[in-house]
Amino acid sequence: MTDRYTIFGNPVAHSMSPVLHPYFAKVLGEDLEYGRTLVEPGAFAATAAAFFASGGCGANVTVPCKVDACNFCQELTPYAKEAGAVNTMKALGDGQVLGDNTDGRGFIEDLHRLGAPLQGARVLVMGAGGAARGILGLLAREGVSHLALTNRSAERAVELARTVSGVEVVPDGKASGHYDLIVNATSSSLLGILPNLSDQVLGDCAFAYDLMYSKDGNTTFTRHAEDLGVGQVADGYGMLILQAVLGFELWRGKRPDTADALRHFRPDAG
Ligand code: NDP
Repeated sequence: MTDRYTIFGNPVAHSMSPVLHPYFAKVLGEDLEYGRTLVEPGAFAATAAAFFASGGCGANVTVPCKVDACNFCQELTPYAKEAGAVNTMKALGDGQVLGDNTDGRGFIEDLHRLGAPLQGARVLVMGAGGAARGILGLLAREGVSHLALTNRSAERAVELARTVSGVEVVPDGKASGHYDLIVNATSSSLLGILPNLSDQVLGDCAFAYDLMYSKDGNTTFTRHAEDLGVGQVADGYGMLILQAVLGFELWRGKRPDTADALRHFRPDAG
């Protein structure tokens, strides 16, 4: 029987995972099927249990199911534990399921790929939702000299900053001074608006990264940063590819070629 994988979420129609993983499988000569599983509200545990009981080998998890997936898995990697969220599940046999979180590592590997400033850098992260939670701890371990966090809802920033030592919480709209790297981990670009950050601060940074991605690599945030003269900008497409690369490696023990995947899916980004 062909090994079966799926993505759990609601909605799932937009997800790139059912396109990325079959491509990796084809290139690496792995035989697998990859589907989409729409999870009705409140039905994550039952839906996931049915999938794995029927022989499913692994799954990706997207909004709004990542925390439910974390609660569902019997075993968690340190990355999933730290993030409190699971984006990749793997059947271990005996009914046990391992939960991992590859979002944060995908983000960090993308920053390395792009040559973004990290060692000794001053870094500002905007946002305190699921994505920010997945990247903050990993960023703190990249040798940055200063890590600041800001969010529209101050209490969420304070709560998240408590989980990672040495993070400065900056009130919304009050970031000042120089940052080498500014990361937009809010969903503002999804709405076509900008997070609350002065043009002076954004325009002064060396690298602006938006976790949101788009077909052509431009987002509201990266476009604005470019208009302000920021030297290097990137959207989250590389992060998307890399979190999938890491998930595929967990499932199949073979690592897809990131540069090849970037060239294949977005020729201008490789
Ligand atoms: P969440 O819904 O968990 O969090 C949303 C965050 O955005 C919160 O900090 C929220 O602030 C903030 N926000 C929402 N609307 C606004 C606004 N109008 N102005 C300012 N801040 C706002 O979303 P996620 O953390 O899951 O996702 C955040 C972004 O990251 C999305 O764009 C998503 O597409 C992207 N992403 C990309 C991935 C990739 O692989 N490239 C992977 C995962 C996410 P508040 O707390 O005040 O509500």
